[in-house]
Amino acid sequence: MEEDKKVNIEKVIQHLNSKWGNRPCPMCGSNSWIVSDKVYELREFHGGNLVLGGGPIFPVIPVSCNNCGNSVMVNALMSEAIERQNVEPKNEKGNGD
Ligand SMILES: [Zn+2]
Repeated sequence: MEEDKKVNIEKVIQHLNSKWGNRPCPMCGSNSWIVSDKVYELREFHGGNLVLGGGPIFPVIPVSCNNCGNSVMVNALMSEAIERQNVEPKNEKGNGD
């Protein structure tokens, strides 16, 4: 239940409205999208090993077509869902904030 990574979903909606508009799904032509209110992250592939602190992650907001499931990953930083400081690896010791 950690709330340390706040997702500004309103910023994402604004971003989508200005950049995406109301274009339909390129796969099925439907125009019903589901915008995730959670940020997911992509990380570099290291041969199947999970490398902690292995570099910056790529945060994304999935936007999925409600009809066919086609999913678009919108960069969470570009859409201002989160702030950059929450993404870059932290070098400080301890778990304070
Ligand atoms: Zn679709």
